[in-house]
Amino acid sequence: MNSELRPHQIEAMSRLRQSLVGGRRRPMIQAPTGFGKTILAAAIVDGALRKGNRVTFVVPALSLIDQTVQSFWAEGIRDVGVIQANHEMTNASRPVQVASVQTLQRRELPEADVVVIDEAHRWYQFYADWMARPEWSAVPFVGLSATPWTKGLGRYFDDLIVAATTAKLIDAGYLSPFRVFAPAHPDLTGVRTVAGDYHEGDLSDAIDKPDLTADIVETWRKLGEDRPTLVFAVDRAHARHLAERFSETGVATAYVDAFTDSEERETIRRRFHAGDVQVVVNIATMIFGVDWDVRCIVFARPTKSEMLWVQAIGRGLRTAPGKADLIVLDHSDTALRLGLPTDIQHDRLNEGRKGSSKCERERSVPLPKECPSCTFLKPPGLHTCPSCGFAPERRTEVATGDGELVEIGKRGSKLSAAERRNRTDDWSVKVSFIQQLKRYAQDKGRSPGWVAHAYREYYGCWPNDRRLKDAEPAAGVGEVVRSWIRAKDIRYAKARGRAA
Ligand SMILES: [Zn+2]
Repeated sequence: MNSELRPHQIEAMSRLRQSLVGGRRRPMIQAPTGFGKTILAAAIVDGALRKGNRVTFVVPALSLIDQTVQSFWAEGIRDVGVIQANHEMTNASRPVQVASVQTLQRRELPEADVVVIDEAHRWYQFYADWMARPEWSAVPFVGLSATPWTKGLGRYFDDLIVAATTAKLIDAGYLSPFRVFAPAHPDLTGVRTVAGDYHEGDLSDAIDKPDLTADIVETWRKLGEDRPTLVFAVDRAHARHLAERFSETGVATAYVDAFTDSEERETIRRRFHAGDVQVVVNIATMIFGVDWDVRCIVFARPTKSEMLWVQAIGRGLRTAPGKADLIVLDHSDTALRLGLPTDIQHDRLNEGRKGSSKCERERSVPLPKECPSCTFLKPPGLHTCPSCGFAPERRTEVATGDGELVEIGKRGSKLSAAERRNRTDDWSVKVSFIQQLKRYAQDKGRSPGWVAHAYREYYGCWPNDRRLKDAEPAAGVGEVVRSWIRAKDIRYAKARGRAA
C-alpha cells in the first residue's frame, strides 16, 4: 500500500477482521462517499494477498473496471488480471481478478479465497446464487457500498460494518459541509410510484415544464453564487431542456450521462475544473464520479429513494482548496420528504420483509424545516435560521392558536400546535386549508390579508409558496375550518375586550 490509511479506514479494516475472525462470512462495509472507499478496497485486497489468498473483485459496470485496476496500481498492487472480452490485462493466473458482474455471469467463476462485491447496493440475483453455492459457503464475500440499503440485502449479508457516517466525516474535515435550500415545491399530484420510486414518465410530465425550468435557472442565478454546478434532471429530455435554458442565459453548460464515453467525460471534467464549463447536467446519478470539484448541486429529480438522494449529494461533498461548503438547491422536495443526507442512517440491513419496516424507517428520520424567510432548510431541531438569522415567532408567545404545547422527540423540544401542523400536514392539506380560507374570505368580504394572517396563525408561517398563492377558492368551507375560524374570531373579540 502506498497510501497511509486514515483513522476511519484503519478502524474499518479492524472491524472487518473482527467480523471474519468471529466467524462471519458475509460482511457488508458501509463507507460513505468521501470515505476513500477505493483505498479501503485496495487495503482489503492487499491484506488478502499478503496471506497468499486469491481475490475476485466484482464491479457492477464495465466502465468501472479500468478505474478499479488503476486505483490498485496506484497502491502498488500490480499482480492484477481482468476478466473481460479481449482486455489487454487478461491473465487468469494472477492472484487478483477484476471483473464486471455482466461478464462474470457468462463465464466460469474464477477460484478465490475472498470475493469483494463493490457498489453492492446494485444487487444482482447472480450474486445471491453465487453466494448460496455450498462450495462458496466458507469463502468470505465482502460487500462495499456507500448506501447498502437495497431491499433484501440483509438476507445475503450477515454483518453491517458502518465504517463512518457522512456527518462524522464532515466533522472530521474529510468531507465538505453543505447547505440545502428548498426554493420550489413541485406538484407531484398524479405521479405514480413504481418499485419504490416515482414513475419516470409521470415525473417527466410533472417536472419538465418551461416555467419550472426557467425557475431552476433563475434560482441558480440568485442562490448558486456562480459556483461550479452539477444538475440532476429527471430524464434526457429534461436534461436537454435545462442545459438549453442555462446556455441561453450565457452559462457554459455541458451534458453527461451513462452513454458519454470516457474520453468525452474526461474532456468535460477538465473544462469544468478549468472553469470553461460552469454547469454540468446529468441524469445517470449512480455512475457520475465523485472526484469532480462540484460546489453547487441543483437537484431537480424528485425521488423516494434514499440511495439515489444520498449518492447524488455525495457527488458534491468532496473537499477542495477554497471550498467552504456545498450549496444544494433542492427543487424536488426530497430533503423535506426523506431528510438531510446526514440524517439518513440505518443500523441494520434491510431484510426485505413486507410490512411495517419501511414506514418505521421513514418515520425515524428527523426532517429539516424550511425557513419561511429564505427557503434554507434548517437541520432538525434548529429554531433560528443559520442562513439568514430569521427566527419564526414562537407560537407560545402570542395570543393566538390554541396554545397547546406538544412534546416531541427525545431532546424534549417543544413545538406549538402550529409548528406541529406545519410539519405533519402535507401540501394537499395545506392547499385545501387555504382554499377554504379564500372561499370564506370571498363569502364574508374579508381581505386577502386576512387569508394570509389566518393561514399564518394556523401553520406558523406565511403562505408564500406558489402553490398556496395560486390556489383557487374552494367550492365550500368545511365544518372543521369554519369552527376554527369561529373560535379564532371569539379569541380576538375577547382579547380586544380585555384591551379595552
Ligand atoms: Zn432563513
